[in-house]
Amino acid sequence: MNFESTQEREMIRQTAADVAAEYGPEHWREKERAGEFSEAFWAELADAGFHGLLIPEEYEGAGMGMQEMGLAMETLCAEGCGMAGTWYLVLTAGMAAVGIREYGTEAQKETYLPDIANGKRNFSIGITEPEAGTNTLNVATKAERDGDEFVLNGQKAWITFSDRAENMIIVTRTTPREEVDRGTDGISLFIVDMDDPNIDVSPIEKHGINYSKSCEVFLENVRVPAENILGDEDDGWWVLVDMLNPERIGFAAAGTGIGKLAANTAIEYANEREVFDAPIGSHQGVSFPITKAYAQMETAALMREKAAWRYDQGEECGYETNVAKATAVAAGIEAVKQSMQAFGGWGYATEYDVERWWREINLTRLAPVSQQMAYNHISQQLGFPKSY
Ligand SMILES: Cc1cc2nc3c(=O)[nH]c(=O)nc-3n(C[C@H](O)[C@H](O)[C@H](O)COP(=O)(O)OP(=O)(O)OC[C@H]3O[C@@H](n4cnc5c(N)ncnc54)[C@H](O)[C@@H]3O)c2cc1C
Repeated sequence: MNFESTQEREMIRQTAADVAAEYGPEHWREKERAGEFSEAFWAELADAGFHGLLIPEEYEGAGMGMQEMGLAMETLCAEGCGMAGTWYLVLTAGMAAVGIREYGTEAQKETYLPDIANGKRNFSIGITEPEAGTNTLNVATKAERDGDEFVLNGQKAWITFSDRAENMIIVTRTTPREEVDRGTDGISLFIVDMDDPNIDVSPIEKHGINYSKSCEVFLENVRVPAENILGDEDDGWWVLVDMLNPERIGFAAAGTGIGKLAANTAIEYANEREVFDAPIGSHQGVSFPITKAYAQMETAALMREKAAWRYDQGEECGYETNVAKATAVAAGIEAVKQSMQAFGGWGYATEYDVERWWREINLTRLAPVSQQMAYNHISQQLGFPKSY
Protein backbone atom coordinates (compact mmCIF):
# COMPACT_ATOMS: atom_id res chain seq x y z
CA MET A 1 0.00 0.00 0.00
CA ASN A 2 1.12 3.47 -0.80
CA PHE A 3 -0.20 6.61 0.91
CA GLU A 4 0.92 8.99 -1.80
CA SER A 5 -2.11 10.51 -3.52
CA THR A 6 -2.01 9.84 -7.24
CA GLN A 7 -3.39 12.08 -9.95
CA GLU A 8 -6.11 9.49 -10.55
CA ARG A 9 -7.22 9.48 -6.92
CA GLU A 10 -7.22 13.26 -6.80
CA MET A 11 -9.40 13.34 -9.92
CA ILE A 12 -11.87 10.86 -8.39
CA ARG A 13 -12.04 12.80 -5.16
CA GLN A 14 -12.57 16.09 -7.00
CA THR A 15 -15.20 14.64 -9.36
CA ALA A 16 -17.09 13.09 -6.43
CA ALA A 17 -16.95 16.38 -4.52
CA ASP A 18 -18.27 18.25 -7.58
CA VAL A 19 -21.16 15.80 -8.02
CA ALA A 20 -21.99 16.01 -4.30
CA ALA A 21 -21.98 19.81 -4.47
CA GLU A 22 -24.74 19.57 -7.08
CA TYR A 23 -26.68 16.82 -5.29
CA GLY A 24 -26.37 18.00 -1.72
CA PRO A 25 -28.56 17.70 1.38
CA GLU A 26 -31.43 19.78 -0.03
CA HIS A 27 -31.81 17.45 -3.02
CA TRP A 28 -31.94 14.36 -0.79
CA ARG A 29 -34.27 16.02 1.72
CA GLU A 30 -36.74 16.59 -1.11
CA LYS A 31 -36.31 13.14 -2.65
CA GLU A 32 -36.72 11.51 0.76
CA ARG A 33 -39.88 13.52 1.46
CA ALA A 34 -41.34 12.66 -1.97
CA GLY A 35 -40.22 9.01 -1.78
CA GLU A 36 -38.74 9.46 -5.25
CA PHE A 37 -35.75 7.87 -6.95
CA SER A 38 -33.23 10.43 -8.22
CA GLU A 39 -32.94 9.68 -11.93
CA ALA A 40 -30.79 12.80 -12.36
CA PHE A 41 -28.23 11.63 -9.80
CA TRP A 42 -28.13 8.16 -11.36
CA ALA A 43 -27.37 9.73 -14.76
CA GLU A 44 -24.79 12.04 -13.21
CA LEU A 45 -22.96 9.04 -11.73
CA ALA A 46 -22.75 7.60 -15.25
CA ASP A 47 -21.44 10.90 -16.67
CA ALA A 48 -18.85 11.04 -13.90
CA GLY A 49 -17.72 7.51 -14.83
CA PHE A 50 -18.58 6.05 -11.41
CA HIS A 51 -20.92 3.28 -12.61
CA GLY A 52 -18.03 1.97 -14.70
CA LEU A 53 -15.17 2.37 -12.21
CA LEU A 54 -14.77 -1.40 -11.67
CA ILE A 55 -15.47 -2.40 -15.26
CA PRO A 56 -12.54 -3.16 -17.58
CA GLU A 57 -11.85 -0.62 -20.32
CA GLU A 58 -12.70 -3.13 -23.06
CA TYR A 59 -16.31 -3.09 -21.73
CA GLU A 60 -16.46 0.72 -21.61
CA GLY A 61 -15.41 1.06 -17.97
CA ALA A 62 -12.45 2.72 -16.25
CA GLY A 63 -10.70 -0.49 -15.17
CA MET A 64 -10.11 0.67 -11.61
CA GLY A 65 -10.48 -1.09 -8.27
CA MET A 66 -12.26 -1.06 -4.93
CA GLN A 67 -9.79 1.45 -3.48
CA GLU A 68 -10.97 4.01 -6.02
CA MET A 69 -14.61 2.96 -5.59
CA GLY A 70 -14.34 3.30 -1.80
CA LEU A 71 -12.84 6.76 -2.22
CA ALA A 72 -15.60 7.82 -4.63
CA MET A 73 -18.32 6.53 -2.30
CA GLU A 74 -16.89 8.05 0.86
CA THR A 75 -16.39 11.42 -0.83
CA LEU A 76 -19.91 11.46 -2.31
CA CYS A 77 -21.39 10.57 1.09
CA ALA A 78 -19.21 13.02 3.05
CA GLU A 79 -19.57 15.97 0.69
CA GLY A 80 -23.36 16.09 0.80
CA CYS A 81 -25.07 12.98 -0.59
CA GLY A 82 -25.20 11.05 2.69
CA MET A 83 -26.17 7.40 2.19
CA ALA A 84 -27.08 7.96 -1.47
CA GLY A 85 -23.35 8.20 -2.26
CA THR A 86 -22.96 4.50 -1.55
CA TRP A 87 -26.54 3.34 -2.08
CA TYR A 88 -26.78 4.26 -5.77
CA LEU A 89 -23.44 2.57 -6.54
CA VAL A 90 -23.01 -0.45 -4.34
CA LEU A 91 -25.46 -2.94 -5.87
CA THR A 92 -25.00 -2.35 -9.59
CA ALA A 93 -21.57 -0.73 -10.01
CA GLY A 94 -20.18 -2.60 -7.02
CA MET A 95 -21.65 -6.07 -6.65
CA ALA A 96 -23.19 -6.88 -10.04
CA ALA A 97 -20.30 -5.42 -12.04
CA VAL A 98 -17.76 -7.37 -10.01
CA GLY A 99 -19.72 -10.63 -10.15
CA ILE A 100 -20.07 -10.43 -13.93
CA ARG A 101 -16.51 -9.17 -14.43
CA GLU A 102 -15.05 -12.08 -12.45
CA TYR A 103 -17.46 -14.94 -13.23
CA GLY A 104 -19.52 -13.93 -16.26
CA THR A 105 -19.32 -15.64 -19.62
CA GLU A 106 -18.09 -13.54 -22.54
CA ALA A 107 -21.70 -13.12 -23.70
CA GLN A 108 -22.79 -11.94 -20.23
CA LYS A 109 -19.91 -9.47 -20.06
CA GLU A 110 -20.79 -8.03 -23.46
CA THR A 111 -24.50 -7.82 -22.66
CA TYR A 112 -24.32 -6.27 -19.20
CA LEU A 113 -21.02 -4.51 -18.46
CA PRO A 114 -21.16 -1.66 -21.03
CA ASP A 115 -24.79 -0.96 -20.06
CA ILE A 116 -23.84 -0.82 -16.38
CA ALA A 117 -20.95 1.53 -17.12
CA ASN A 118 -23.26 3.82 -19.12
CA GLY A 119 -25.94 3.88 -16.44
CA LYS A 120 -28.47 2.12 -18.69
CA ARG A 121 -28.84 -0.93 -16.48
CA ASN A 122 -29.71 -1.08 -12.83
CA PHE A 123 -29.27 -4.38 -10.99
CA SER A 124 -30.86 -5.54 -7.80
CA ILE A 125 -29.29 -8.31 -5.74
CA GLY A 126 -31.71 -10.93 -4.42
CA ILE A 127 -30.21 -12.74 -1.45
CA THR A 128 -32.45 -12.23 1.60
CA GLU A 129 -35.63 -14.24 2.18
CA PRO A 130 -38.13 -14.18 5.03
CA GLU A 131 -36.34 -17.20 6.56
CA ALA A 132 -32.84 -16.46 5.28
CA GLY A 133 -31.38 -13.14 6.44
CA THR A 134 -28.26 -13.49 8.52
CA ASN A 135 -28.30 -17.19 7.69
CA THR A 136 -27.96 -16.92 3.92
CA LEU A 137 -27.46 -20.66 3.55
CA ASN A 138 -31.13 -21.11 4.43
CA VAL A 139 -32.22 -19.74 1.03
CA ALA A 140 -35.18 -21.73 -0.16
CA THR A 141 -35.86 -20.15 -3.55
CA LYS A 142 -35.68 -23.13 -5.88
CA ALA A 143 -34.31 -23.30 -9.41
CA GLU A 144 -35.20 -26.56 -11.16
CA ARG A 145 -33.79 -27.55 -14.51
CA ASP A 146 -36.23 -28.07 -17.39
CA GLY A 147 -34.27 -28.69 -20.59
CA ASP A 148 -32.29 -25.57 -21.49
CA GLU A 149 -34.07 -23.54 -18.86
CA PHE A 150 -34.44 -23.33 -15.10
CA VAL A 151 -37.77 -22.71 -13.39
CA LEU A 152 -37.54 -20.41 -10.36
CA ASN A 153 -40.01 -20.38 -7.47
CA GLY A 154 -39.71 -18.57 -4.17
CA GLN A 155 -39.82 -15.32 -2.27
CA LYS A 156 -37.17 -12.71 -1.58
CA ALA A 157 -37.34 -9.88 0.97
CA TRP A 158 -35.89 -6.36 1.14
CA ILE A 159 -34.59 -6.39 -2.42
CA THR A 160 -33.44 -2.84 -3.07
CA PHE A 161 -34.17 -1.33 -6.52
CA SER A 162 -36.26 -4.38 -7.53
CA ASP A 163 -39.11 -1.96 -8.33
CA ARG A 164 -37.04 -0.29 -11.07
CA ALA A 165 -34.05 -2.51 -11.88
CA GLU A 166 -33.74 -4.12 -15.29
CA ASN A 167 -32.10 -7.20 -13.78
CA MET A 168 -31.63 -9.09 -10.56
CA ILE A 169 -28.82 -11.42 -9.60
CA ILE A 170 -30.74 -13.94 -7.57
CA VAL A 171 -29.42 -16.52 -5.13
CA THR A 172 -31.18 -19.88 -5.42
CA ARG A 173 -30.83 -23.50 -4.44
CA THR A 174 -30.36 -25.86 -7.36
CA THR A 175 -29.78 -28.76 -4.97
CA PRO A 176 -31.74 -28.92 -1.70
CA ARG A 177 -29.73 -28.38 1.48
CA GLU A 178 -30.62 -31.88 2.76
CA GLU A 179 -28.90 -33.39 -0.29
CA VAL A 180 -25.51 -31.64 -0.03
CA ASP A 181 -22.57 -32.34 2.30
CA ARG A 182 -21.84 -28.67 3.00
CA GLY A 183 -24.47 -25.93 3.18
CA THR A 184 -22.37 -23.88 0.78
CA ASP A 185 -22.89 -26.49 -1.96
CA GLY A 186 -25.99 -26.56 -4.14
CA ILE A 187 -26.34 -22.78 -4.48
CA SER A 188 -26.58 -21.14 -7.91
CA LEU A 189 -26.82 -17.51 -9.01
CA PHE A 190 -28.92 -16.41 -11.99
CA ILE A 191 -29.27 -13.16 -13.88
CA VAL A 192 -33.00 -12.57 -14.17
CA ASP A 193 -34.91 -10.05 -16.30
CA MET A 194 -37.18 -8.12 -13.98
CA ASP A 195 -39.85 -7.48 -16.62
CA ASP A 196 -40.91 -11.15 -16.43
CA PRO A 197 -44.69 -11.18 -15.77
CA ASN A 198 -44.21 -13.99 -13.23
CA ILE A 199 -42.23 -11.70 -10.93
CA ASP A 200 -44.23 -9.58 -8.48
CA VAL A 201 -42.68 -6.77 -6.49
CA SER A 202 -44.12 -5.10 -3.42
CA PRO A 203 -42.28 -2.24 -1.62
CA ILE A 204 -41.76 -2.42 2.15
CA GLU A 205 -42.41 0.81 4.10
CA LYS A 206 -39.19 1.72 5.82
CA HIS A 207 -37.43 3.97 8.39
CA GLY A 208 -35.19 5.91 5.96
CA ILE A 209 -33.43 5.99 2.56
CA ASN A 210 -36.81 6.54 0.96
CA TYR A 211 -35.29 7.85 -2.27
CA SER A 212 -35.21 4.20 -3.25
CA LYS A 213 -37.45 1.25 -2.56
CA SER A 214 -36.62 -2.11 -1.02
CA CYS A 215 -39.22 -4.75 -1.80
CA GLU A 216 -40.60 -8.19 -1.33
CA VAL A 217 -40.20 -10.13 -4.57
CA PHE A 218 -42.38 -13.11 -5.45
CA LEU A 219 -41.31 -15.54 -8.18
CA GLU A 220 -43.76 -18.05 -9.58
CA ASN A 221 -42.56 -20.35 -12.34
CA VAL A 222 -40.09 -17.82 -13.69
CA ARG A 223 -38.30 -19.44 -16.63
CA VAL A 224 -34.64 -18.47 -17.01
CA PRO A 225 -32.33 -19.73 -19.77
CA ALA A 226 -29.49 -21.92 -18.47
CA GLU A 227 -26.98 -19.50 -20.02
CA ASN A 228 -28.08 -16.92 -17.41
CA ILE A 229 -26.33 -18.78 -14.61
CA LEU A 230 -23.59 -16.60 -13.14
CA GLY A 231 -20.63 -18.89 -12.38
CA ASP A 232 -21.11 -22.63 -12.13
CA GLU A 233 -24.27 -24.52 -11.27
CA ASP A 234 -24.33 -25.59 -7.60
CA ASP A 235 -21.15 -23.59 -6.94
CA GLY A 236 -22.56 -20.07 -6.70
CA TRP A 237 -21.73 -19.53 -3.04
CA TRP A 238 -18.16 -18.49 -3.82
CA VAL A 239 -19.34 -16.08 -6.51
CA LEU A 240 -21.61 -14.51 -3.92
CA VAL A 241 -18.82 -14.26 -1.33
CA ASP A 242 -16.70 -12.39 -3.87
CA MET A 243 -19.56 -9.94 -4.36
CA LEU A 244 -20.15 -9.45 -0.63
CA ASN A 245 -16.65 -8.11 0.05
CA PRO A 246 -17.12 -5.05 -2.21
CA GLU A 247 -20.50 -4.53 -0.53
CA ARG A 248 -18.85 -4.44 2.91
CA ILE A 249 -16.20 -2.03 1.65
CA GLY A 250 -19.03 0.13 0.25
CA PHE A 251 -20.83 0.17 3.59
CA ALA A 252 -17.56 0.99 5.39
CA ALA A 253 -17.31 4.01 3.07
CA ALA A 254 -20.92 4.91 3.88
CA GLY A 255 -20.24 4.69 7.64
CA THR A 256 -17.33 7.13 7.59
CA GLY A 257 -18.86 9.22 4.79
CA ILE A 258 -22.19 9.88 6.51
CA GLY A 259 -20.40 10.30 9.84
CA LYS A 260 -18.05 12.93 8.41
CA LEU A 261 -20.92 14.75 6.72
CA ALA A 262 -22.85 14.97 10.00
CA ALA A 263 -19.73 15.90 11.98
CA ASN A 264 -18.66 18.66 9.58
CA THR A 265 -22.19 20.07 9.56
CA ALA A 266 -22.27 20.01 13.36
CA ILE A 267 -18.82 21.65 13.63
CA GLU A 268 -20.06 24.54 11.48
CA TYR A 269 -23.18 24.87 13.62
CA ALA A 270 -21.17 24.62 16.84
CA ASN A 271 -19.08 27.61 15.75
CA GLU A 272 -22.14 29.74 15.04
CA ARG A 273 -24.61 28.80 17.74
CA GLU A 274 -24.08 30.78 20.91
CA VAL A 275 -25.52 29.73 24.26
CA PHE A 276 -24.48 31.41 27.54
CA ASP A 277 -22.60 33.99 25.43
CA ALA A 278 -20.18 31.46 23.90
CA PRO A 279 -20.22 29.28 20.78
CA ILE A 280 -21.35 25.83 21.92
CA GLY A 281 -18.28 24.36 20.13
CA SER A 282 -16.04 26.02 22.72
CA HIS A 283 -17.35 23.53 25.31
CA GLN A 284 -15.36 20.32 25.22
CA GLY A 285 -18.55 18.53 26.27
CA VAL A 286 -19.73 19.33 22.72
CA SER A 287 -16.47 19.15 20.74
CA PHE A 288 -14.75 16.09 22.22
CA PRO A 289 -17.43 13.47 21.50
CA ILE A 290 -17.45 14.54 17.83
CA THR A 291 -13.67 14.80 17.70
CA LYS A 292 -13.21 11.31 19.18
CA ALA A 293 -15.66 9.81 16.71
CA TYR A 294 -13.85 11.65 13.89
CA ALA A 295 -10.51 10.20 14.96
CA GLN A 296 -12.04 6.71 14.95
CA MET A 297 -13.50 7.32 11.49
CA GLU A 298 -10.06 8.25 10.20
CA THR A 299 -8.59 4.93 11.42
CA ALA A 300 -11.56 2.95 10.09
CA ALA A 301 -11.09 4.60 6.68
CA LEU A 302 -7.48 3.38 6.65
CA MET A 303 -8.69 -0.16 7.32
CA ARG A 304 -11.11 0.21 4.41
CA GLU A 305 -8.21 1.17 2.17
CA LYS A 306 -6.31 -1.93 3.31
CA ALA A 307 -9.33 -4.20 2.76
CA ALA A 308 -9.87 -2.69 -0.70
CA TRP A 309 -6.18 -2.97 -1.56
CA ARG A 310 -6.18 -6.68 -0.66
CA TYR A 311 -9.38 -7.19 -2.64
CA ASP A 312 -7.84 -5.48 -5.67
CA GLN A 313 -4.73 -7.70 -5.40
CA GLY A 314 -6.96 -10.79 -5.40
CA GLU A 315 -5.88 -11.63 -1.85
CA GLU A 316 -8.09 -13.08 0.87
CA CYS A 317 -9.73 -10.06 2.55
CA GLY A 318 -12.68 -11.32 4.64
CA TYR A 319 -11.03 -10.35 7.93
CA GLU A 320 -10.10 -6.86 6.71
CA THR A 321 -13.51 -6.12 5.11
CA ASN A 322 -15.33 -7.13 8.29
CA VAL A 323 -12.99 -5.08 10.51
CA ALA A 324 -13.39 -2.10 8.16
CA LYS A 325 -17.17 -2.41 8.03
CA ALA A 326 -17.66 -2.92 11.78
CA THR A 327 -15.32 -0.11 12.87
CA ALA A 328 -16.46 2.39 10.22
CA VAL A 329 -20.09 1.84 11.13
CA ALA A 330 -19.49 2.05 14.89
CA ALA A 331 -17.49 5.29 14.49
CA GLY A 332 -19.95 6.74 11.95
CA ILE A 333 -22.95 6.04 14.19
CA GLU A 334 -21.22 7.71 17.13
CA ALA A 335 -20.38 10.72 14.95
CA VAL A 336 -23.98 11.14 13.77
CA LYS A 337 -25.34 10.62 17.29
CA GLN A 338 -23.00 13.23 18.80
CA SER A 339 -23.62 15.64 15.91
CA MET A 340 -27.35 15.40 16.56
CA GLN A 341 -26.64 16.17 20.23
CA ALA A 342 -24.74 19.32 19.21
CA PHE A 343 -27.82 20.57 17.36
CA GLY A 344 -29.93 20.30 20.51
CA GLY A 345 -33.65 20.36 19.71
CA TRP A 346 -32.87 21.46 16.16
CA GLY A 347 -31.27 18.08 15.56
CA TYR A 348 -34.80 16.76 15.58
CA ALA A 349 -35.96 19.10 12.81
CA THR A 350 -35.89 17.75 9.26
CA GLU A 351 -34.47 21.05 7.92
CA TYR A 352 -31.04 20.37 9.46
CA ASP A 353 -30.76 16.90 7.88
CA VAL A 354 -28.95 15.31 10.80
CA GLU A 355 -32.07 13.33 11.80
CA ARG A 356 -32.20 11.94 8.24
CA TRP A 357 -28.53 10.93 8.38
CA TRP A 358 -29.32 9.24 11.70
CA ARG A 359 -32.05 7.20 10.00
CA GLU A 360 -29.72 6.45 7.10
CA ILE A 361 -26.75 5.31 9.15
CA ASN A 362 -28.98 3.09 11.29
CA LEU A 363 -29.23 0.74 8.34
CA THR A 364 -25.50 0.14 8.29
CA ARG A 365 -25.55 -1.65 11.66
CA LEU A 366 -28.24 -4.07 10.41
CA ALA A 367 -27.21 -4.70 6.80
CA PRO A 368 -25.69 -5.93 4.58
CA VAL A 369 -23.98 -7.78 7.41
CA SER A 370 -25.10 -6.92 10.92
CA GLN A 371 -22.50 -5.65 13.38
CA GLN A 372 -22.92 -8.89 15.38
CA MET A 373 -22.22 -11.07 12.35
CA ALA A 374 -19.20 -8.96 11.37
CA TYR A 375 -17.84 -9.41 14.92
CA ASN A 376 -18.66 -13.15 14.77
CA HIS A 377 -16.49 -13.37 11.67
CA ILE A 378 -13.65 -11.38 13.25
CA SER A 379 -13.68 -13.34 16.52
CA GLN A 380 -13.54 -16.60 14.61
CA GLN A 381 -10.48 -15.32 12.74
CA LEU A 382 -8.92 -14.37 16.06
CA GLY A 383 -9.26 -17.95 17.22
CA PHE A 384 -12.54 -18.05 19.14
CA PRO A 385 -14.80 -21.04 18.44
CA LYS A 386 -17.43 -20.52 15.74
CA SER A 387 -20.59 -19.45 17.54
CA TYR A 388 -23.24 -19.97 14.88
C1 LIG B 1 -33.28 -1.10 3.84
C2 LIG B 1 -32.79 -2.48 3.60
C3 LIG B 1 -32.32 -2.81 2.35
C4 LIG B 1 -31.90 -4.12 2.07
N1 LIG B 1 -31.52 -4.44 0.80
C5 LIG B 1 -31.26 -5.75 0.51
C6 LIG B 1 -30.99 -6.13 -0.85
O1 LIG B 1 -30.94 -5.31 -1.77
N2 LIG B 1 -30.80 -7.45 -1.11
C7 LIG B 1 -30.85 -8.41 -0.13
O2 LIG B 1 -30.68 -9.58 -0.43
N3 LIG B 1 -31.10 -8.06 1.17
C8 LIG B 1 -31.31 -6.77 1.50
N4 LIG B 1 -31.57 -6.40 2.81
C9 LIG B 1 -31.67 -7.46 3.84
C10 LIG B 1 -30.55 -7.47 4.86
O3 LIG B 1 -29.36 -7.92 4.25
C11 LIG B 1 -31.01 -8.37 6.02
O4 LIG B 1 -32.05 -7.66 6.69
C12 LIG B 1 -29.89 -8.70 6.96
O5 LIG B 1 -29.02 -9.62 6.33
C13 LIG B 1 -30.38 -9.32 8.28
O6 LIG B 1 -31.29 -10.35 8.05
P1 LIG B 1 -32.64 -10.39 8.90
O7 LIG B 1 -33.29 -9.06 8.81
O8 LIG B 1 -33.45 -11.56 8.48
O9 LIG B 1 -32.17 -10.61 10.42
P2 LIG B 1 -32.07 -11.99 11.20
O10 LIG B 1 -31.25 -12.97 10.46
O11 LIG B 1 -33.44 -12.39 11.63
O12 LIG B 1 -31.27 -11.54 12.50
C14 LIG B 1 -31.90 -10.77 13.54
C15 LIG B 1 -30.85 -10.27 14.50
O13 LIG B 1 -30.21 -11.36 15.16
C16 LIG B 1 -28.80 -11.23 15.04
N5 LIG B 1 -28.19 -12.57 14.95
C17 LIG B 1 -28.61 -13.63 14.22
N6 LIG B 1 -27.77 -14.66 14.38
C18 LIG B 1 -26.77 -14.25 15.23
C19 LIG B 1 -25.61 -14.85 15.78
N7 LIG B 1 -25.24 -16.09 15.49
N8 LIG B 1 -24.83 -14.11 16.60
C20 LIG B 1 -25.17 -12.83 16.90
N9 LIG B 1 -26.26 -12.20 16.40
C21 LIG B 1 -27.05 -12.91 15.58
C22 LIG B 1 -28.57 -10.46 13.75
O14 LIG B 1 -27.31 -9.82 13.73
C23 LIG B 1 -29.74 -9.46 13.82
O15 LIG B 1 -29.39 -8.37 14.60
C24 LIG B 1 -31.93 -5.10 3.11
C25 LIG B 1 -32.37 -4.74 4.40
C26 LIG B 1 -32.80 -3.46 4.64
C27 LIG B 1 -33.32 -3.12 6.02
